[in-house]
Amino acid sequence: MPLGEFDLIARHFTRPARRNPLGVGDDCALIAPAPGMQLAVSSDMLVEGRHFLSTVAPERLGHKALAVNLSDLAACGAKPLAYTLALALPRADDTFLAGLARGLHTLADRHDLDLVGGDTTAGPLNLCLTIFGEVPPGAALLRSGARAGDELWVSHPLGEDEPGWLGDARLALEVFRGTPGLRVPGAAFDHLRLAMECPEPRVALGLALRGVATSAIDVSDGLLGDLQHVLRRSGQDGRALGVVIHADALPRSPLMRAQTEALQRECLLAGGDDYELLFTAAPADHAAVLDAGDRSATGVRCIGRLTTEGGTTVVDRHGARVATPWASFDHFAP
Ligand code: ADP
Ligand code: MG
Repeated sequence: MPLGEFDLIARHFTRPARRNPLGVGDDCALIAPAPGMQLAVSSDMLVEGRHFLSTVAPERLGHKALAVNLSDLAACGAKPLAYTLALALPRADDTFLAGLARGLHTLADRHDLDLVGGDTTAGPLNLCLTIFGEVPPGAALLRSGARAGDELWVSHPLGEDEPGWLGDARLALEVFRGTPGLRVPGAAFDHLRLAMECPEPRVALGLALRGVATSAIDVSDGLLGDLQHVLRRSGQDGRALGVVIHADALPRSPLMRAQTEALQRECLLAGGDDYELLFTAAPADHAAVLDAGDRSATGVRCIGRLTTEGGTTVVDRHGARVATPWASFDHFAP
């Protein structure tokens, strides 16, 4: 017996709201931020064929859909409260839905986050989540707060054998594409694939960086491309800030280090789907950033410095300029 709309919501997406007054089942949910806090709100949509392959395991799809939304809260230094799930499904497949729900609920539980509502309709597979977090007034990390002279930092996993280092998601995509010349042994592929399918949102780091970082963004469309948003929004009088990045300082996995120099640079600087935090802080706060990394059990690496002007310059270990010919991902690029 195929599940009806309300049966499937009841079976897979209805759970007690633990930290909010009203969850799934009424016309609206009720969310209760702590008194005086501001709500941080973000939506992300995942469309089959665009953002994920039809072969992805449903549990990982659920994880990723929520992870990319949590990553936006992390980039703002907001604490997760609740989310809603709008779902279009080609059919009500119970096994698929059970896997999807498991991926969502497991990650949500780790962040004490309630699924409080949503919408369910028939249609091409598509998930749209809206997430709500809280942040004290004035404490949100913004793209617009960077200043010339600030150090530029990027987050990374703590252990070398942990999955999901910068660029690894892109490297996994290249394996899927069958790009020639890759140095990825078969046994390493499952590990690499975790980077693409199971990103780890840096929520704890975002919280620890409140009052320390001057700006932050999460890397979803490639480091250099996303950095441009910060440089533009932080510039004065319509003039973007500049930046010098040290290519050798970019954190990378052992598997990435095994690739050609050219491929490493492309994956690290223009990869996409990384969900690391890219942030800036005053040089005087260098130790405070390292401490925020320690407190959140997240790796942080200083990779460069902002300048008043001069565009984006990437240099190698000899100080020579590295070419950066890649465009950032744009869904509507001609
Ligand atoms: P309405 O007709 O008022 O929009 P629905 O009948 O669509 O409400 O949904 C019934 C309840 O189930 C609502 O509380 C809604 O938020 C919730 N809901 C619907 N789809 C989902 C979903 N995919 N995940 C979580 N909650 C859902
Ligand atoms: Mg509805």
